[in-house]
Amino acid sequence: MSEFDGTVALVTGGASGIGLATAKALAAEGAQVAVLDLNPEGLPSELTGFVADVSDRASVDAAVAAVGEKFGRIDILVNNAGISAVGTVEENDDAEWMRVLNINVIGMARMSAAVLPWLRKSPSASIVNLCSIAALNGLPQRAVYGASKGAVLALTFAMATDHVAEGIRVNCVSPGTVATPFVDRMLAKFDDPVAERAALDARQATGRMVTPEEVAGAILYLASPLSASTTGTSLEVDGGVHNLRVRPRKSGS
Ligand code: NAD
Repeated sequence: MSEFDGTVALVTGGASGIGLATAKALAAEGAQVAVLDLNPEGLPSELTGFVADVSDRASVDAAVAAVGEKFGRIDILVNNAGISAVGTVEENDDAEWMRVLNINVIGMARMSAAVLPWLRKSPSASIVNLCSIAALNGLPQRAVYGASKGAVLALTFAMATDHVAEGIRVNCVSPGTVATPFVDRMLAKFDDPVAERAALDARQATGRMVTPEEVAGAILYLASPLSASTTGTSLEVDGGVHNLRVRPRKSGS
């Protein structure tokens, strides 16, 4: 028996990277899992895919209605869908700001609003948002991305406050750099992707990027019905980036 037995979880952006690792981990623990994604093809058989674009309210509402119709309940929402962005404020135009904030921030608000009526009926409702160390750390060339994740942190606290009396918990995870296709695409935008990847590995005090499965473990902790007193928190899964100040490693150590 697992505490997730009988629950229904919905993971946005669950066809790749952290979302896929989370959806698989939830299913392995006994949850029924719906994956909402632009392209939910090729999912393992234990996951049920639904096409949705979190930047479009009608698409979100239709997909959430389809999930509710299929499973009859929704207990857990993982707001994971998000995109990367590279550049300073001079390098990102208005269209890029709108695109990133629309997906990374308003997408979570749209999804949450659509799922809340289902969560109110759950005995153990939980929302987990994907934040980032970029919310509280100034990372080079991440102006729009960092601003989007700062907004996710504030949104998490605001939503946790609004819904605590309804028994709905809202938390976020703040990963360091995680080895996913998202990072591969971001690296391709740099002049020297190999040097940038080495810098990303070195930025973690642990000396390596975080794995999607390590982030999934933190998400499951926050989503678990057993974590009933944990709300309005950010759980760092960052290889020590936020709190540790280590000396540079010697090569090979
Ligand atoms: P990924 O690119 O591997 O997967 C993202 C998934 O989201 C894809 O399946 C994509 O199709 C889906 N998606 C994108 N836009 C969508 C939209 N408009 N509607 C629906 N689905 C959409 O990314 P990842 O690295 O697994 O990142 C997932 C989340 O974790 C993001 O919110 C990201 O900001 C956050 N995060 C990632 C890292 C990292 O280093 N990889 C670090 C901190 C936070």
